Amino acid sequence: MLELVDVHAEIDGTPILKGLTLTLGAGEVHAVMGPNGAGKSTLSKVICGHPDYTVTGGDIRLDGESLLGLEPEERAHRGVFMSFQHPVEIPGVSTSYFLKAALNAVRTARGEPELNAVDFLKLAREKMKLVEMPKELLNRSLNEGFSGGEKKRNEIFQMAVLEPKLAVLDEMDSGLDVDALRTLAAGVNALRAPDRSMLVITHYQRLLDHLVPDFTHILVDGRIVKSGDATLAKDVETRGYDWIRKAG
Ligand code: ADP
Ligand code: MG
Repeated sequence: MLELVDVHAEIDGTPILKGLTLTLGAGEVHAVMGPNGAGKSTLSKVICGHPDYTVTGGDIRLDGESLLGLEPEERAHRGVFMSFQHPVEIPGVSTSYFLKAALNAVRTARGEPELNAVDFLKLAREKMKLVEMPKELLNRSLNEGFSGGEKKRNEIFQMAVLEPKLAVLDEMDSGLDVDALRTLAAGVNALRAPDRSMLVITHYQRLLDHLVPDFTHILVDGRIVKSGDATLAKDVETRGYDWIRKAG
């Protein structure tokens, strides 16, 4: 479903990804772990087409089609979703308005009719339960003044509404307490589906106790240096990243 082939990427002329190769099959959950500064957020941003990052080599393909020439919204129309490590606040735009617009853009691209306000609210209420998100947040400006945990709930809520083909979740666990972590991991688990792949990026192993990946990859200095199953994450927890650096 998703193929990254020898991807090289830079920001402001500084190379960050240095030959990253990774393949996700349909229905699979892959974890990417790595030390700070390894390029994890860069990886998520180049998949989604963030304008600050330049891909200088290799290819990124979704269902065989290269994403590289496509704008972020064209990628979203094809079913790519990203949850941000640091979600942005947009004062003056309600969470509800924002998400309805996003959903209807995706529906239009898929050739489906737009949802009206009533049907959208019904859908939104149902999906909010999945992440135990307070209803009031729908009417507030997007992420403005939200706590760290509320922002992360909002990201997974958006994923539940948009039903992406590929979800890239960048440090969805950062800033969460243990209970919120469990709730959100359960929410993401409920969204696992045979036609949906997920790339779960995290710095810590604890998320992966709740959201058990099919495969784990270790990203160091812009490359995948080791891949394995869920037990690889446990090795990192006990031994850190240095033994992999040395072995690689
Ligand atoms: P991670 O998410 O794994 O912690 P990032 O992808 O956020 O890592 O960052 C990778 C590297 O890119 C870091 O060393 C960071 O300092 C560097 N970086 C980020 N933005 C810029 C920039 N504008 N110019 C130069 N280097 C940058
Ligand atoms: Mg990061």
